[in-house]
Amino acid sequence: MQRRSALKNIGGLLLVPSLGFAKTSNPKQPVLRIAHLTDIHLKNKFDAPARFVKCLHHVQNQSPKVDLILNGGDMVFDMNKENISTINDQWQLTKATMKADCSLPVHYCLGNHDIWWNENDKGQTLYGKQYSMDQLGLVKPYYSFIKGGWKFIILDSVHLDIDNTWYIGKLGDEQFAWLEQELKATDLAMPVLVMTHIPILTVTNLIEDDTVNKWVMLGGDMHTDNAKIINLFYQHPNVKLCLSGHIHLRDKVVYNHVTYICNGAVCGAWWEGNKRETAPGYGLIDLYADGRFTEDYINY
Ligand SMILES: [Zn+2]
Repeated sequence: MQRRSALKNIGGLLLVPSLGFAKTSNPKQPVLRIAHLTDIHLKNKFDAPARFVKCLHHVQNQSPKVDLILNGGDMVFDMNKENISTINDQWQLTKATMKADCSLPVHYCLGNHDIWWNENDKGQTLYGKQYSMDQLGLVKPYYSFIKGGWKFIILDSVHLDIDNTWYIGKLGDEQFAWLEQELKATDLAMPVLVMTHIPILTVTNLIEDDTVNKWVMLGGDMHTDNAKIINLFYQHPNVKLCLSGHIHLRDKVVYNHVTYICNGAVCGAWWEGNKRETAPGYGLIDLYADGRFTEDYINY
């Protein structure tokens, strides 16, 4: 990960080994095209499997081709209020669909519906995030990787609330320290894309039907530690783009040098049409070597 130590100055030429820069040397061409699929909520109901397959084919038929998929979490319909056989069915369906209908590399982030919250089951292997991590082959719920000269940081947004009854958006001390270290270890010339399930910053939560004289926002709907995260990003101008989902509404907020995009859900309103004005869809993003990007929300 220490890019500087990997750079070799040979005969006055700067050689950059195996960081995947090679797709194009033309700065006007993107180095990577990614699709951001979030909140799929797959279940064998509402014709969801066929519609999800349609979405996957839509992504794979894009021209120019998509290089990789970022899956923003809430893959299965819901791991809660369900028995284990239903949960197993949802995961089997998810894995079988991805295997049969997706040939692109996928990097996953856990959503709140991919976590078993039932307190009575504490102590069992099902509780928490382990079950989903096992399904996805994740060693840790947060990690990073480098592709196309960009660093991708996948974070774990979802943690128990202070009273241990429900979830809120936050990183926690250990993960925050890891993120600090991860950014410090990244060369300033390398642009960074961050993906969370719960938005770090979004205005979607301000759209309410019953507002009288104040807005009420839940700690589960946006990162409660966002001031701390935003201040950390402020110290690292190479952080360019943060992707999230969770709200099933689409917005784009620019604050300081960072663009925060909350994309709509693949399932729309849980496979029953649009959520407010946001139709079922996915994000399509072209990344450039200098940290620029262009993006669109695609209704498949
Ligand atoms: Zn969701």
